[in-house]
Amino acid sequence: MLTLQEQLQDAAELMREARKIVVLTGAGISTESGIPDFRSPGSVWLENPPVSYPDFISKPEARRRYWKTRRSLSNQVSAARPNSAHYALVELERRQMLLGIITQNFDGLHQDAGHDPARVVELHGTSREAACTLCGTRSPMSELQRRLDAGETDPQCSLCGGYMKTATILFGQLIPPEVLTRAKAWAESCDLFLVVGSSLQVSPAANLPRLALKKNVPLIIINLMPTPLDDYADCVIQEKAGVVLPKLIELL
Ligand SMILES: [Zn+2]
Repeated sequence: MLTLQEQLQDAAELMREARKIVVLTGAGISTESGIPDFRSPGSVWLENPPVSYPDFISKPEARRRYWKTRRSLSNQVSAARPNSAHYALVELERRQMLLGIITQNFDGLHQDAGHDPARVVELHGTSREAACTLCGTRSPMSELQRRLDAGETDPQCSLCGGYMKTATILFGQLIPPEVLTRAKAWAESCDLFLVVGSSLQVSPAANLPRLALKKNVPLIIINLMPTPLDDYADCVIQEKAGVVLPKLIELL
């Protein structure tokens, strides 16, 4: 069993040679910023299971539940700030070692930390914007929030009458093909794949490291819990991202 310091040395050695690192981030990087992970015990999501896309479109009751849950979360989400793990990843970009960040999070914290937005692919969309489910028109979430605060309970698009929601991807909703294409292209052209705070349980994110492995690229996994790809990784560190990443950057 390696000590944390030995694991960090191993990871740093792999990363030192890399110039096109792709990082996949999941909920684990944002929990340290106070954003709840729907898998963790006591999570708001356990009491209010996430609304699926088909239900959102077809059931007024599901839309009410969606906005009610969002209301109880919105203070936590709007108060969230990037943590030391987010800033450590920005340092990779600053040192020209980063091809891109692919994230399962929709909190916008990577961009807040200082990444070039062109280097961030948001697989599950963003809660910073609102989107019409019918015509796709987007607007800042703050505008829609004002309507909700003013008492609207089932907001509709002013252009086409479609139902509005945050520009995130719900269960049962397709990820836009261009988003997935970009993520896959990065995974296939990186020279090191780094997983941070994802248990690799949700497709298609879980498949991206496999694309990198097929190209014989080193895989590093930093996650509190085991993942299905641990046996294939060159280095697995089961520790908080906010603890590991700043130390790792220091060793580069
Ligand atoms: Zn519309």
